[in-house]
Amino acid sequence: MRGRSMGEITLKLKNILQRINELAEQRKSVSVPKLIAVSKTKPIEAIVELYKCGQYTFGENYVQELEEKANNEQIKRECPDIRWHYIGHLQRNKCNRIVKIPNLECIQTIDSIQLADSLNNACKNVQFSKPLNILLQINTSNEEQKSGIAPNECLTLYQHVKKNCELLNCLGLMTIGALDNVQSTNNQDFEILLKCRDNLCEQSSLSVNDVELSMGMSSDYEQAILAGSTMVRIGSSLFGGR
Ligand SMILES: *Cc1c(COP(=O)(O)O)cnc(C)c1O
Repeated sequence: MRGRSMGEITLKLKNILQRINELAEQRKSVSVPKLIAVSKTKPIEAIVELYKCGQYTFGENYVQELEEKANNEQIKRECPDIRWHYIGHLQRNKCNRIVKIPNLECIQTIDSIQLADSLNNACKNVQFSKPLNILLQINTSNEEQKSGIAPNECLTLYQHVKKNCELLNCLGLMTIGALDNVQSTNNQDFEILLKCRDNLCEQSSLSVNDVELSMGMSSDYEQAILAGSTMVRIGSSLFGGR
């Protein structure tokens, strides 16, 4: 029973990694995009199986679920080098909890100055060997119900973090994007994120290669990579539907 359904995940991982490599070659980029395996709602066993195949980076959307998984005995025993990315909406009152999560590598969803300040303050209460990695979440689709800062406020948020949040290390930008844009050849969300990146680089003398772009999910990761993504967040194509 177990062997069968679990083996499927391994196979899917291999296929997706192969596809990511092919697309990276096609776009002639120096680096291969990183795969974030989005394990929300999925069991510990599935995470352990992927870890044993060399997939170390996982994404979770809910603080409590991430706390439980990161502190799980089996995970601690069998996945000592696991790296967690938080990709859900973060409330300011949960900052103190999230910074205590073991092996937290990055919070991808910083979308306001207030949230950045709260997180930076929370970091003062824990012992990190280096600043906590973050991405700025941009609301590229301009939908009210979506989280994320407006594209034209991206630079201000970046500069605020750089100047005032000494315990945070901003690696780049992230977008979720609108469902309408999935499969369209000129995905507007990707284009807007690229524009934010270019503007950031110009105004802050950064090289484009120094800015991570987290964009692309199961339905659109191929186009996202061709557009320049450096991190794809894939859930259902890897683990099956939720
Ligand atoms: C759930 C989720 C994903 C993964 O979505 P799939 O379509 O299952 O690949 C990626 N990013 C975020 C922010 C998510 O919430």
